Amino acid sequence: MPIQDKRVETDEDSVLNLSLRPQWFDDYIGQVQVKENIQVAVAAAKKREEPMEHLLLAGPPGLGKTSLAHIVAAEMDAKITATSGPAIDRAGDLIGLLTNLQEGDVLFIDEIHRLSKVVEEFLYPAMEDSEIDFVIDKGPHAKTIKFHLKRFTLIGATTRSGLLSNPLRSRFGMMYHLDFYSPEQLTQVVLRSADILSTSIDAEAALAVAERSRGTPRIANRLLRRVRDYADVKHAGRITMDIVQAALTQQGIDAKGLDGLDRKVLRVIIETYGGGPVGLDALAAALNEERDTIAEVVEPYLLATGFIKRTARGRMVSEKAVAHLTALKEKPEALFEQSSR
Ligand code: ADP
Repeated sequence: MPIQDKRVETDEDSVLNLSLRPQWFDDYIGQVQVKENIQVAVAAAKKREEPMEHLLLAGPPGLGKTSLAHIVAAEMDAKITATSGPAIDRAGDLIGLLTNLQEGDVLFIDEIHRLSKVVEEFLYPAMEDSEIDFVIDKGPHAKTIKFHLKRFTLIGATTRSGLLSNPLRSRFGMMYHLDFYSPEQLTQVVLRSADILSTSIDAEAALAVAERSRGTPRIANRLLRRVRDYADVKHAGRITMDIVQAALTQQGIDAKGLDGLDRKVLRVIIETYGGGPVGLDALAAALNEERDTIAEVVEPYLLATGFIKRTARGRMVSEKAVAHLTALKEKPEALFEQSSR
């Protein structure tokens, strides 16, 4: 039985995401350059009647890596098997997955940087020559048997491309980094999702949700659902700017799109470490948070928006962060009011 992607299954959004997840290139908003390159690769592979080259997608969580993998499979008319680095404990698990693949299938490995070294080494010949080497018996009787696999496409996703080993990275024919989405692109995501959910939303309200989604479609969809709940319970129906404002203030999301954890990180750097620099481990300990959560989920957006800077000696807050927190301290009710531009 194929190993399922545990993270996707436990994702609070999973049930709804199935329907909100774009199915084809045409539904996939933004990431224009990356999408175009992959579209060309898919078209070329189809023309040659060959599987597409192995593809590595990097970028923070929720930016659409898994969606792209599913789209590639759908556009190639191929079957996809989804799993994740931490779900493949032993080489045997990987061998089971690989030997079950049919010609042209897609194997999607999320969090591929978390594969163990041993498992990773089994992937090399599989990726390069569509074969795996079994070692049977031990000691002097040990024998290596080659097993030929059907030609397949590996799509790897990673939130930490820097942690990927060079031998693994070099075996991907294509490697793309997904960037945060612009408010305009996220507005399109919100409008599309509202349409799927049969909810009506004003244009300015959709933009307000988009601006507070940390550049991330998954968050845009999550906020849209919170706002929709609020609209359904407190008002009958249509989502207006007032409803977005009330609902997102209740969720602790401010005008710059930062949530409680973002502000906590900034506050700790300012109040405990005098603005920085501070190392990731010290920061995680002071916050009582996982190091990976800070590195993979919180920090990329704070860096991209210039609230923190990374220096050789650690993380430092910017003047923009100090000004933002000071303004909120002086006037907490303004949490939502300022324009985020
Ligand atoms: P990742 O694998 O990078 O964590 P996902 O592909 O699971 O991200 O995306 C999370 C959700 O965000 C999807 O289920 C979908 O609803 C939405 N989403 C992501 N990218 C896009 C996009 N380009 N266009 C529309 N919706 C998107």
